[in-house]
Amino acid sequence: MSQFWSDIVHRLQPYTPGEQPRSEHPLKLNTNENPFPPAPGVLAAIRDELGGDGARLRLYPDPTATRLRETVAAQHGLRAEQVFVGNGSDEVLAHVFQALLKHDLPLLFPDISYSFYPTYARLYGIETRTIPLDAHFAIRPDDYAIANGGVIFPNPNAPTGRALPLADIERVLHANRDSVVVIDEAYVDFGAESAIALIDRYPNLLVVHTMSKSRSLAGMRVGFAFGDVALIDALNRVKDSFNSYPLDRLAQVAAVAAYQDTAWFDRCRARVIASREQLSADLAALGFEVLPSAANFVFARHPQHDAATLAAALREQAIFVRHFRQPRIEQFLRISIGSDDECRRLSDALAELLAR
Ligand SMILES: *Cc1c(COP(=O)(O)O)cnc(C)c1O
Repeated sequence: MSQFWSDIVHRLQPYTPGEQPRSEHPLKLNTNENPFPPAPGVLAAIRDELGGDGARLRLYPDPTATRLRETVAAQHGLRAEQVFVGNGSDEVLAHVFQALLKHDLPLLFPDISYSFYPTYARLYGIETRTIPLDAHFAIRPDDYAIANGGVIFPNPNAPTGRALPLADIERVLHANRDSVVVIDEAYVDFGAESAIALIDRYPNLLVVHTMSKSRSLAGMRVGFAFGDVALIDALNRVKDSFNSYPLDRLAQVAAVAAYQDTAWFDRCRARVIASREQLSADLAALGFEVLPSAANFVFARHPQHDAATLAAALREQAIFVRHFRQPRIEQFLRISIGSDDECRRLSDALAELLAR
């Protein structure tokens, strides 16, 4: 009964995740999961952690995920103290909002961006100001050179897929020496330049990563923040006031194994990139306008066909894509890159619908 609710609960507008279909064999291209399984070593590492009888599950996991942080730090040329780990990057972002982005001046992010940002801002009572993307749905770096309490955006941006060059990220960092700039690199491995290289020169930079997309571990919930030790320290203070053990034992060993197999990682992302280019061409041939994507999804609209109608018609065939009822983008579909076969089934279904 809502009379029992805390005051803030009445005012929350929770994030709506993409649908997790219940149908038997869905073609699931709506939440940007990876079509390929995780590296083979992941399963072996989980089996090894479980042992014969699972006795190790009696014991709490390492609260600081030290081995994982060391593994990841080494790959990115960082020190383990510059790495924060959380239960998916959504949890990492929640801590970032609370620990680093709540100030008197408003937090800036693009009008078209990851829709969890306004949700966290409301949860933590953070004032925000949205900055419009340009007419081609690109971020204009100079628009962020105004007084603010922080800046956050994904690169590549979601759900547009458009990437910003590193020089433009640096312009934003340079103009914001007195506030934290968070670059959410959930899709960076599919074709953008990582800002991790700038961490040692910008103590105001925090880079957020996830293992859900390019490392095929959405089901394990592992995310990271990389930055100056003072920023990481703030995140640890919030984390240790919330949940000491955000990552379970299986997630920690799985994440280490996935990070160690760089050949698998490179092969899978190369295949996703190739499929993305093919799907973009196929959609363009059907008359879609496709934004240039550096992510594992494409964002496309058809000048003659309503996006919501198309999404609903696909859904009737158990094909799931994402549609956002939001100003400026309500005529777009966001389509995750599946295997070549899945992409072909999607474009065949669209071709058939357009011909009706
Ligand atoms: C998918 C996504 C996340 C969340 O990833 P998880 O680690 O699965 O929580 C964060 N930011 C953006 C922009 C995303 O698209």
